[in-house]
This record gives sequence, C-alpha cells and structure tokens, in this order.
Amino acid sequence: MSEPTPTVDAAAVRAAAERLRAARRVLVVTGAGISAESGVPTFRGPGGLWRDFRPEELATPEAFERDPHLVWEWYDWRRQRLVPVRPNAAHEALVRLESAAPEMLIATQNVDGLHGVAGSRRVLELHGSIWTVRCVGCREARDDRRAPLPELPPRCACGGLLRPGVVWFGEALPQDVLYESFAAARQAEVVLVIGTSSVVYPAAALPETARAHGAFVIEVNPEATSLTAMADVSLRGTAVACVPALTGAAA
Ligand code: NAD
Repeated sequence: MSEPTPTVDAAAVRAAAERLRAARRVLVVTGAGISAESGVPTFRGPGGLWRDFRPEELATPEAFERDPHLVWEWYDWRRQRLVPVRPNAAHEALVRLESAAPEMLIATQNVDGLHGVAGSRRVLELHGSIWTVRCVGCREARDDRRAPLPELPPRCACGGLLRPGVVWFGEALPQDVLYESFAAARQAEVVLVIGTSSVVYPAAALPETARAHGAFVIEVNPEATSLTAMADVSLRGTAVACVPALTGAAA
C-alpha cells in the first residue's frame, strides 16, 4: 500500500509566506530532499542504494585511500545519473525569491549543482560539488562535467590522483563557506529549511544558530525531523508542493 499524501496546512503556508514577504535577509538551507522530485535519490530514504555499500562507507578519505577506483565508480555512477536531471519547481521558486529578497543566501548540502543550473546566484555549497575534481598531489581544483569520465580513477596533468571535490564524512567543511553561512544565519530574519534530515553537522546547526539570533524558522519536509520541534512553521509536504506556494505569495 502506498503512503497517504501528506496535506499541507494552507493557513501555515500563508503565515510562512507572509514572513518571507516581509524579510530582506533570508537564509535558505537545503538538503537532498529538494532534489528528490528531480529524480535525485536521497541517502537516507528508499531508492538511494548503490550495490551493497552505504554512502558512509564510500564517502570517506579512508575509502578513497583504500580503493580509489571503487570510490570513483560510485561518483561516476552518480554523475551519470545527474546528466539528464533538471531543477524542479522548488529550485525555480527559490530563484524568484532571490529577486524579491536581494540579501537571500542559499546554503546547500547538495553536491548536484541544481541551484546554480536553476539560476540562483548566491549559493554556498557546504559539501562541495560533484562536478569539481581536485588533485590530491598539487591540490588544483577544476570543474569537469564529463560523465562518464574516460578513465577511472582520473589523473591530474601533474600525474597525481584526482578526487571528487566534495566534503567526505570526517572532513572539515571549507572555512570560507562555513564562515559566510554562519554569518548569514546570525543575521537572518527568516530561515527556510527544505528537505534535510538535519542530522549532518555543522549544516544542521545553521537553523539552530539563526533561531538563537531571533530568526523565524520555516521547515519544509514530508517527515518530522529533529528541527521540527524548534520550527515556527513546519510544513509537512514535499518541496515542490510547498516552496512555490510559499514564494509565489512572497514574490
Ligand atoms: P538526507 O538524505 O539525510 O535527508 C533527506 C531529507 O529530505 C529527509 O528528511 C526526507 O524526509 C526529505 N525529503 C525526501 N523527499 C523530499 C521531498 N520531495 N521534498 C522535501 N523533502 C524531502 O539528506 P541531507 O539532510 O541533505 O544529508 C545527506 C548528505 O548527503 C548531505 O551531506 C548531502 O551532501 C548528501 N547528498 C546530496 C545529494 C544531492 O546533491 N542531491 C543527494 C543525496 C545525498
């Protein structure tokens, strides 16, 4: 039997949209859930499986050291799956919101690049990008959108091994990105949190920080999360069902 479709409380949408309309400084925090309706599987939901491995066992520096070919097979597979993927109505609604709230910033945990493809301009990629490769030797990073890659594992012109330009479990987030996103959290009037299980830190601390500094917290997620209890409005629906409704009224 399929799950019943969650209903979204219209009064809650209106209240949240009203807050968004009045705000200049908006921080949007997104996770894998915003891309789910574009066809990108989340890690923790169903359909996110790859062979018999768990992401936590492949997305680590130790896994790469042990078997760079296996790790690259997984990333190459994910890159190939992303090639035909398009931003959805939620990504597009955030582009409209940005034009209405010029100080808006998106801090995304996603590595798929879909906010940029949609046209959002101020995007901080907390966990890097799956389209970036970085040399473990000379450390040079560059974009490489070829999928599949012609050679696995790929190599740098200097001869060093290239790695995916993403942040792995156990690694630190880029300092500049972290600094800017927490500064935005401290200043935000509204924080809109879309499609994240709010279990991966430090990203999960952004809404907490914003709330501690007085921000109004809006959550969009079909399921309750650890953030739900502290949200001012928690919309129990999908990104595509809720975000255009929120920003349509806000723009
Ligand atoms: P997660 O997989 O832990 O959680 C996804 C959340 O999205 C869940 O709370 C789920 O209820 C919600 N969700 C599912 N479908 C949704 C929908 N249609 N609309 C709104 N919400 C929906 O993801 P996370 O919190 O982002 O953390 C996982 C880590 O995995 C991140 O670090 C991220 O870098 C990485 N990841 C990225 C991608 C991507 O780039 N698209 C995909 C999978 C995982």
